[in-house]
Amino acid sequence: MSALTGDTVVMKFGGTSVADAERIKHAAQRIARARDEGNRVVAVLSARGKTTDELVAMAREVSERPDPREMDMLLSTGERISCALAAMVLKDLGHQAVSLTGSQAGIVTDTSHTKARILDVRADRIIRALDEGQIVLVAGFQGVSTELDVTTLGRGGSDTTAVALAAAVGASVCEIYTDVSGVFSADPRIVPEARKLPQVSFEEMLEMAASGAKVLQLRSVEYARNHGVSIHCRSSYEEGPGTLVLTEEQTMERPLVTAVTHSTDEARVTLTGLPDVPGVAGRVLTVLAEANVNVDMIIQNEPESEGGRADMSFTVPRDDLEAARDALEPLKGELGIGEVSTDPRMGKVSLVGAGMKSHPGVAAKTFTVLGDAGVNIEMISTSPIKISCVVHEDDVREAVRQLHTAFELGVDAVRHEDVAGVHRPVVS
Ligand code: ADP
Ligand code: ASP
Ligand code: MG
Repeated sequence: MSALTGDTVVMKFGGTSVADAERIKHAAQRIARARDEGNRVVAVLSARGKTTDELVAMAREVSERPDPREMDMLLSTGERISCALAAMVLKDLGHQAVSLTGSQAGIVTDTSHTKARILDVRADRIIRALDEGQIVLVAGFQGVSTELDVTTLGRGGSDTTAVALAAAVGASVCEIYTDVSGVFSADPRIVPEARKLPQVSFEEMLEMAASGAKVLQLRSVEYARNHGVSIHCRSSYEEGPGTLVLTEEQTMERPLVTAVTHSTDEARVTLTGLPDVPGVAGRVLTVLAEANVNVDMIIQNEPESEGGRADMSFTVPRDDLEAARDALEPLKGELGIGEVSTDPRMGKVSLVGAGMKSHPGVAAKTFTVLGDAGVNIEMISTSPIKISCVVHEDDVREAVRQLHTAFELGVDAVRHEDVAGVHRPVVS
């Protein structure tokens, strides 16, 4: 087969899209078709189905706190299996194909095991293989650290592998093939009438990914924005366009609210009896940052009297709760903290929309809708294009549905220029 000089495309297939032999064959056929159309093709594959969850469970069977370096050795195997199998299918179809681990593909990361960051992509081996006319299959979600250890990129990290490779090989597009047909106005598994968004801006997609819309990993969106990579998120099973992630200038629509997102993986930590002196909050957040724990919302209550003690609450991903507890333990004595209490069953519901900048009516309406639904709001945070409310995990689904209906985001919703008391901005 001859070498190609056409467009380079990166195609990423998620776990459900390669879950069994039939689906791997189907994905391989789609990859082969892109090659037959004259493209130079790099495909990034995720681990099959629930493989990563099973590997995590396997580690927990033998160790209460699995060593992070060894965890990465284990977790990286899932995506390698998918790539080797897909390469076999492609070869049977008469194509030249080669599967590579993240390390072989030149993905260099820092040393933060289980959530490493990509530092560099040395794509010469991939480019050489493409020049030879090969289809290159790269195991997603992994790299090699500056210490030469295998690392993984955090859950959902194959999206970031794909975007980083697209940037490194100068691909015209990074196609993310998944089990839904694009990015929707809410998780279609919770809101069946959710609307597929033909396009979404990087700014909105960043807020959506950060607030739980796991259809694209947050870091992949950051990487794409920083490196000018176009993402096309689309269905593995259906033809037809999905969702394009574009710069704000390129997006045509600017609705007040674009989507309702949610997460059911939050935990809350409350520190009571903190000394009310400058530097304490900084100390608390520093130890958490050193333990690589991402702190999301923070609330601090001032003491009622001078010299009194303050309380501080914040949310962390539930998976980081143990690490947060461990990191805070030594601070108890150092700062004289009264108590560290935790609530592992929190969730979050957020409204995202580039048009809501400086429209306080959206916040008012959000709180009213949740109040009417009997949902207690535990914490609130806002950005110019997002409002997030921490609620109990059990209230998340209902909160998402009520907000989606109230803001008329669905396929069949009649979209009004004035959303019940909130005036849409005039976009000039
Ligand atoms: P993959 O295995 O292909 O990486 P993921 O499970 O990571 O797929 O992401 C796709 C899932 O994201 C969908 O099945 C859907 O349930 C969920 N999801 C959450 N929010 C959204 C949204 N706003 N639009 C589309 N999908 C969403
Ligand atoms: N297999 C990994 C996970 O489940 C990475 C990915 O699928 O993107 O998180
Ligand atoms: Mg994913």
